[in-house]
Amino acid sequence: MFVLLADDRQRWSWQAKGKRLTFTCKEGTVHWRLPFRPAAAGIHPDLLMVATQALLSPWHKDLLEGWTPSRPRGEKVGLAFSGGIDSTAAMSLLPEDTVLVYHRRSFKSNLQHRGADRLFRHLKKAGRRVHSVPSNHEILRQHHRLPNGFSTDVASAVHLILTADHFDLGGIAFGMPIDNTYLWHGHRWREFSESGWWRRWVPLLSSVGLDIVLPIGGISQASTVQLVQEAGLGDVVSSCLRASFPGCGRCWKCFHKHTLLGRPADLNAREIQTFLAKRPLKTATHVLWWIGQHDRWDLVPDLAHMKNHDLSAWTMHYAPAFDLLPDWIRDHVKQAMERSIPRMPDDAALIGQDLFPDAP
Ligand SMILES: [Zn+2]
Repeated sequence: MFVLLADDRQRWSWQAKGKRLTFTCKEGTVHWRLPFRPAAAGIHPDLLMVATQALLSPWHKDLLEGWTPSRPRGEKVGLAFSGGIDSTAAMSLLPEDTVLVYHRRSFKSNLQHRGADRLFRHLKKAGRRVHSVPSNHEILRQHHRLPNGFSTDVASAVHLILTADHFDLGGIAFGMPIDNTYLWHGHRWREFSESGWWRRWVPLLSSVGLDIVLPIGGISQASTVQLVQEAGLGDVVSSCLRASFPGCGRCWKCFHKHTLLGRPADLNAREIQTFLAKRPLKTATHVLWWIGQHDRWDLVPDLAHMKNHDLSAWTMHYAPAFDLLPDWIRDHVKQAMERSIPRMPDDAALIGQDLFPDAP
């Protein structure tokens, strides 16, 4: 195997053989199958440093000590494309030459890829290619007795970081709706640009020529459903990870997302009942909006006092989110957004709201 980069203190190393990229660390050995041969084409060491940080920073605090980044910015934007509703909406707001890259779990798991594959076949017919990067890097958490998953939020885009030279990327887009940006845990308003997420990741990625792009950062999951419908993909896309299209009808996403596309859901299903009973309510603002729309306050009788909280802005866009986009892509996203989603008034009750003030 060819060593691409190794830590001076021997805590981690990146190696390549053919199209297979291997990362070795105390947490284990994990792989990616890339669309190119890293030993021949090379991967800028800065990208490997940031990938290391995305994978290991919860457990190692000084990974980037003594490192000075130098990678020049690329030209295109790449989307961490999950194939679900939110990332499909993000795609619809980005330029046509956006590189769509899918992280495919390469280990045995209950999560289903079939919903995404159906969308990818449909997009292919329309001339849009989705690149899949198989990897098992989510198993690194097992070493720390955590369930499989992304070590950090940016680990969900580590496949784009690793392919950024190959695809000439100058930005990485995430399908992250307002529920995860301006709303802390989906219920308490915050200034997102002052959040730990923003401060931790934006300067770091930018230092290696990758701007973070959040096309749907100022809109809700109700608006992402609308965008997907307007793109003609309402009958193609699925956010359910439990079953193939059209979804299991029994999970939280089938409840609050798929029902908006006219698909049935069993509201008595265990997961849906469990999350409806949680306080603070899970996905709170969106679900309260859903309950108001469907007049189903019987589902959360103790929250009936929230009936008067005006959530009409939930189907509008929060214009200051455009300021978080890099200059080179802002106008495109803004124009695409303004064609479909109305602007939120400055005095919307959503702005500054705190639905569960007693929550920590
Ligand atoms: Zn489901």
